[in-house]
Amino acid sequence: MAYQVLYRTYRPAKFAEVVGQDYIVKTLVNAIKNNKIAHAYLFAGPRGTGKTSVAKLFAKAINCQDFKDEACDSCANCKAYLEGTHPDIIELDAASNNGVDDIREIIEQVPYAPLLGKYKVYIIDEVHMLTTPAFNALLKTLEEPPAHVIFILATTDPQKVIPTVLSRCQRYNFSKISIYEIKKRTMEILKKEGIPFDEKAVEELSRMAEGGMRDALSLLEQCLSYNPNELKLEDVEHIFGLTSVAEEVELYNGVHSKKISEVVEKIRTMYAAGSDTKRLAIDLLEIVKDALIYSDQGKERLLNRITPLEAQGILNRVSRKTLFNDAAELENLISRERQSQNFLVYLELCLIKMAGDFEKESVQPIAKTAEIKEEEVEEEAPVEVKEEDFDPKISIVEPDREFLLSILLDANKDLKISDQIIYNKLDLYAYDPEKRKFYQLLVGTELFASNKDAIIVCGSKSQADNINTRSMNEELYRFINKEFGIDKMVYAIDQVGKSELINMYKRTPADQRNRPVFVEKYKIEEKKEPTPEEKLRDLFGDVVKVEE
Ligand SMILES: [Zn+2]
Repeated sequence: MAYQVLYRTYRPAKFAEVVGQDYIVKTLVNAIKNNKIAHAYLFAGPRGTGKTSVAKLFAKAINCQDFKDEACDSCANCKAYLEGTHPDIIELDAASNNGVDDIREIIEQVPYAPLLGKYKVYIIDEVHMLTTPAFNALLKTLEEPPAHVIFILATTDPQKVIPTVLSRCQRYNFSKISIYEIKKRTMEILKKEGIPFDEKAVEELSRMAEGGMRDALSLLEQCLSYNPNELKLEDVEHIFGLTSVAEEVELYNGVHSKKISEVVEKIRTMYAAGSDTKRLAIDLLEIVKDALIYSDQGKERLLNRITPLEAQGILNRVSRKTLFNDAAELENLISRERQSQNFLVYLELCLIKMAGDFEKESVQPIAKTAEIKEEEVEEEAPVEVKEEDFDPKISIVEPDREFLLSILLDANKDLKISDQIIYNKLDLYAYDPEKRKFYQLLVGTELFASNKDAIIVCGSKSQADNINTRSMNEELYRFINKEFGIDKMVYAIDQVGKSELINMYKRTPADQRNRPVFVEKYKIEEKKEPTPEEKLRDLFGDVVKVEE
């Protein structure tokens, strides 16, 4: 089966490749280094979280003759392990060999010294499947294990392991792997396989895997057998019959744009198409929770369901107070689900209530500005200057090539890396009504060079012209100054300009490089714009304080 190919190929071959169990790996590595190895381990946790993989890596590592953080992979023990012929590493799958005879057979060998390594390691997978007599037989050995024997018992169901066995094991609880970690690893694998992918599709698969790396890869295989050339979001949604996160976010934003009839219509369409309304309610709750978490620290890795861009889009529309309120409404709805004969009715009612609360809030005169309807966002004039309506009177900041060259000659990589933050954070401004123009101005351009006073970005001809338009250029200067503390002029060039500059750079003798350049900057006005916190306080008064 294809799925086993991916799963086997990418099974961790080193401790460093184990996903999401850092604490356990670190503890085990330290135990080996300090020579404090226990005689029995219990690895408990949900399926696909790496129990068997870690057990195998541990078995290899403790027999390695040259262990340093990782097994050496070249000593006789490592080689035998890699070939699958190590005589002292014995695996038993208790799911299929669970009788007392199966256990007796391996236990009979326990007293004999290892043949090749330092330890005999017995890995018993799905140990909870053993019959009671089998457990009892195992227990006798666990009570008085010879010094050269180590048992690693793995189970998804530790409650079913008899307490006398549990009490003799050092226990490690493998936790579900976060969506963030699964997504990261899955993308690495797709890159190695050379398969183009839609990041959103990977995210959806990672979410469906519910904490299991193996499940994620099995879902991935399913998609790749449908379309081996590419992983696309619509394929994932189609194969697994999902309501897309994008649709759910749109639905949630719809509620807060007072598009209630549209929202209700949409839910009924989803319902008619077989969507699970309870699942939808839980998804909406997760979206609200994600937005709340993101509003606090803006950490991407804490997000479960939505992207930073989507979170920011919600936060631009909805206050924290409303989010808390929505969470309570949804929670209440979900907890009553069992008693509800017709859940759809309650779901609709809940969303109408959520929309109503927003209305109350927007009655406050200033709050109007916080309410951004989609149309308004669309209308928020893009700063594009089209060729045909280009006004020659618009002043253009077009520094000559010699000047740009002198900046390039003075540029360095560290500055460029630290200025890259502008691009890393750019998405956050896509839905911000006031700063969206900077997003539009820069999106699709790239950072070409940075010195201490200036940045050169490269984009299409029209993008470069837009950025070099004097008024925009000045606004952009203030924007990066205020948002990122970067006090630099921004000059834009197009692809032609870029290759010209590169050629000029190459022709410049080395001793003429790194000369100081004088860059004249715009003046920073004294008047400061209010910070986001101040703005929130303006809009909602003490509410914000209460929640923080
Ligand atoms: Zn080795």
